[in-house]
Amino acid sequence: MVKFKMYLDDETYEELKGEVAHYLVQCNMSYPLNIDNFAYKLGIEFIPYSELGKEAHIFAMHTSQDGFLCEKNRVYASVFFNDKKKIERQNMSKMHEIGHYVLDHNSTRNKPDEEKEAESKFFARYAMAPMPLIHLLPIVTVETIQKAFGLSHEAASYAFANYKGWLRCFNGKYKDYEQKILSLERNKLDIYISELKKNKERQSERYQPSEWKKRKLGLASKSRGQAVPLQDHNSTPVQGNLYEVRQMAGP
Ligand SMILES: [Zn+2]
Repeated sequence: MVKFKMYLDDETYEELKGEVAHYLVQCNMSYPLNIDNFAYKLGIEFIPYSELGKEAHIFAMHTSQDGFLCEKNRVYASVFFNDKKKIERQNMSKMHEIGHYVLDHNSTRNKPDEEKEAESKFFARYAMAPMPLIHLLPIVTVETIQKAFGLSHEAASYAFANYKGWLRCFNGKYKDYEQKILSLERNKLDIYISELKKNKERQSERYQPSEWKKRKLGLASKSRGQAVPLQDHNSTPVQGNLYEVRQMAGP
């Protein structure tokens, strides 16, 4: 992975999201993603750097500190990854290399490397935490995104910023690829979502002003026994008052 920032055009971003949804549905994936399983279904083998011999290890570290893809005409594909990195980073690197594979970057020679990198990076980030699934969280923060999708703080911050942008444009209608993503299983993610819902309810209970505070603010609700009816059952006094008013106002 190369560190730089490059923006792709909107059309490309839409295409990439479509690719993510296509492969996730094809492999019948569920959330949060099990990347080893995803790679297995795509026919990709994962090889940790720690299993390499001394020479190969030096070569691997020289090629990338995180990971790289070895692929030959779709006959075989191996992703070598640095298993000394944090697990969240390892997962993102693996997904990044899967991106290079499914986007067939090895055979697209006329595309600049920068562009391939930006595409793979986006593919990985979107696949790990797609916007419509973030939208299911009852509380959306960097921390909840991090926990829900198993991301690093940095990746979750990126997802959070992207989510805010997505939400500004969201009109309540999901695009085709978003519906595909929403159709995926999400057993474990749903467990976390219901935990968050309970937390949210508990929090809102906690923030309800207590009775003595309400009284202080003059907001205390009258208990049922003391309820004052809007109009007395015996409506005579009201009619009497109306009569007096009419009297005062003259004929
Ligand atoms: Zn790359």
